[in-house]
Amino acid sequence: MNRLLRFINLNTRFKDNMTYRHFILVNGILVVIILFFIFFALFNYFILHRPDITFLNTIAAIITLLILIHLTTTNNITFTAKLATINLMVFLLAFIYNVGSEHFSLIWTIFLPTFAIFANGRKLGLYFSLLFYALLFTMAYMYIGVWDKGNWAFQDWVRLVSASSLLTFGMYLNESAYEEYDRQLKLVRANEQRLMLELSKQSITDQLTNLYNRRYYDTVIDKVIATAKRHKKCITFFILDIDHFKRYNDYYGHKKGDEVLIKVAHTLKKHIQREDDFVFRLGGEEFAGIITSEDKEKTQEWIAQLCDAVEKLKIEHKKSHISAYLTVSLGMVSKCSDEDFNANSLYLDADKALYKAKSQGRNRCKTLA
Ligand code: GH3
Ligand code: MG
Ligand code: MG
Repeated sequence: MNRLLRFINLNTRFKDNMTYRHFILVNGILVVIILFFIFFALFNYFILHRPDITFLNTIAAIITLLILIHLTTTNNITFTAKLATINLMVFLLAFIYNVGSEHFSLIWTIFLPTFAIFANGRKLGLYFSLLFYALLFTMAYMYIGVWDKGNWAFQDWVRLVSASSLLTFGMYLNESAYEEYDRQLKLVRANEQRLMLELSKQSITDQLTNLYNRRYYDTVIDKVIATAKRHKKCITFFILDIDHFKRYNDYYGHKKGDEVLIKVAHTLKKHIQREDDFVFRLGGEEFAGIITSEDKEKTQEWIAQLCDAVEKLKIEHKKSHISAYLTVSLGMVSKCSDEDFNANSLYLDADKALYKAKSQGRNRCKTLA
C-alpha cells in the first residue's frame, strides 16, 4: 500500500491540512483518471470501434498526464486543480456531445462536481460545477427526442437535472462542513500554540519581577559559557543582594518589600539591556546577571554602577545602618575563554566576592581578583 501511495506521490508532506487533502485527492484521482482514459481509449478502439471516442480519451489522457507532471514538479495544487477540472469538463462535454445518453454514458458526468469541489474547495468547485451543468443541461435539453435513437425524453432530462443538482448540493455541504471543521481546528491549534508559548515563558519567568527565574539560570548558564568560550569572549557573572532586607520587610511590611524587589529588578533590567546578556532573580532578595563581552574591565566598571543606581532610587530604609536609603551589595567575577572555569566555579567566586562586600560593610561592589 505504501509503495502504491509513493507511486502516486501521496507521501508528500504539507503543513496545511486542507492543502494536503486537496493534494492527495487531485494527485490520486489524476492517476486513476489517466488509467481510465487509457482503458477507454483501448476499449473504444478495439471493442466498440469508435475512433472518435478513442481520440478524445487519448487526448484527455495526455493532457491529464501533463497536468500530473506539472503538479509533481511544482506542487502548485491550486493551479493544477483548476487545469484538471477544466480538462475533465471539456472531455466530459465532448464525450457526451459525441455519444449522447447512449449506454448510460451520462453517468460519468457525476464525477465532475465530485472532483471539482474536492479539488478546488467549496466555492470555486461549485462555480465550476454550475458552469458545467449549465452547458450539459442545455445540451441534454436540446437533444430531447434525438439522443438514444429518439428515446431520450423530457422525464430523463428532469431526472438528470434533479439527481445532478442533489449530488452537487450534497458535495457542497460536505465540503463546507469539512472547511468549517478545518477552520475551527486551526483556531484550536493556534490557541494551543499560544498557550504553550505562554506556559514555557511563564516557566522561566519570576512572577513577581518578570526577570528570568532560577530554573532558567540553571538551563542557560552552561550554554552561555560554551558560546563565550567558542567565540573567545569573557564572561562576567555577578550576584546582587539587597542589604538588610529582612529589616526592611519587618519595618515596612511584606507588600512594600515586594515593591522594592520590583524596583530593583527594573533597575537591573534598565541597566542591562543587551539581548545576549541575562538578568535573573535567583530567589528572595538575590539577583544575578551574566554578561558576555570582550573587555572584562569595562564590563566590571559598568556592573559596579548598579550599587549606585539602586541607592539613587532613594527608597527610604530607616532600619538600615548604612544609608538613609535602600542599598545593595554585589559580588562579581570575570573569566575569559583562555581561563579555566565553569558554572559552578563562577557561582562560588561571585558568592565569595559578595560575602566580602557584605563583611566589609555592605553597599559596595567587590570583584574577585
Ligand atoms: P543582608 O544585608 O545580610 O543580606 O541581610 P538581609 O536581611 O537582606 O538578608 P536575610 O537573608 O537575612 O533576609 C532576606 C529577607 O528577604 C528575608 C525575607 O523577609 C525577605 N524576602 C525573601 N523573599 C521575599 C519576597 O519574595 N518578598 C519580600 N517582600 N521579602 C522577601
Ligand atoms: Mg540581603
Ligand atoms: Mg540574601
